[in-house]
Amino acid sequence: MSFRQPFDWHDWNDIYNRIYSQSAEDVERALHHPERNVIDFMAFISPVAERYLPAMLEQSRALTQQRFGKRIQLYAPLYLSNYCDNGCVYCGYRIDNPIKRIVLNSGQIVREIRVLNDHGIRNVLLLTGESKRHADIEYLTEAVKLVRMYFNTISVEVQPMTCDEYATLKSEGVNGVYIYQETYRREHYRTYHPKGMKSHFYYRLETPDRIASAGIEKIGLGTLIGLEDWRTDAYFAALHLHYLKETYPYIRRSISFPRLRPAESGIQPNVTISDKQLLQLMCAYRLCNPTLEMSLSTRERAHFRDEAFTYGITSLSAGSKTNPGGYAQFPSSLEQFEISDNRSPKQIAAMLAHRGYEAIWDAPEYEIPHHFT
Ligand code: SF4
Repeated sequence: MSFRQPFDWHDWNDIYNRIYSQSAEDVERALHHPERNVIDFMAFISPVAERYLPAMLEQSRALTQQRFGKRIQLYAPLYLSNYCDNGCVYCGYRIDNPIKRIVLNSGQIVREIRVLNDHGIRNVLLLTGESKRHADIEYLTEAVKLVRMYFNTISVEVQPMTCDEYATLKSEGVNGVYIYQETYRREHYRTYHPKGMKSHFYYRLETPDRIASAGIEKIGLGTLIGLEDWRTDAYFAALHLHYLKETYPYIRRSISFPRLRPAESGIQPNVTISDKQLLQLMCAYRLCNPTLEMSLSTRERAHFRDEAFTYGITSLSAGSKTNPGGYAQFPSSLEQFEISDNRSPKQIAAMLAHRGYEAIWDAPEYEIPHHFT
């Protein structure tokens, strides 16, 4: 059993039609449900729910503070390599884009680490393009061993791996793995992902099952907003999160909301989501998943992040560079995507303090509910 079976029971067009035919009564009923489910999620992301946004925001903020307090975890990405064997049409790192490729060696990784440590960062997300040829499990294991000496919490966002490879990363101290399906619209998936392992929709779809089976503590999901109808994609991501909760109840789950940003590909989003709609989406996840961790990256503008984080977000990236060597050595190498919020971690922490929130630099100490232990 994997997520493939429940996924295959659902039809994209049917879900789309159900979301777009939700009524005001459906939203009102969802707002009053004590134990919400994916049907309530469907109501919250529907167009008609936009007029209920004030109530959703209020409930969402209260639920978040109740569960997580007024605390936001800070983290930074550390790009190790921009080699990639895939051909995602929206990404400057795609295999056929003639950019200068870099894979950091140990000395170069340490130079990046020093900058992050100087900024106070203790929680790092290691990223690579997806290339087993240039950043295989041996390379990643060595990188994690190195990074572990300087950081308390380590997550990775790399190519999908086998269960044994994830177990190796766990034994080296990796706490979390992020894997984005980008879109759950299987019929269109290859249009965006025509080359490499990423073109295999189901292999990617089943990756969170392999991560969970390896005993990794936290799994992060997400879709790339801008490819397909964001509401329908969000419903499938919510379904995936629900499946993970039911199947692996001891696992921490997180969701991110990346909006398609300009990269060297120059591709324009097929669909857009307004700031207001993104808030609606965040609230929908929070209202239906009180324990879900939610992350907002520096893709978003400072002004929006300062407003949005109070409605459900549990972690913010800060001072990010999205290019390998970007902190200390190769500042002009190609960024994977443009940064909109260029503030330093200390400036983000000051903004949080100003809003009455505490910045958490270290590993979070969220309690796992008793019935999960
Ligand atoms: S999105 Fe990821 S997998 Fe796709 S080309 Fe970019 S780095 Fe490679």
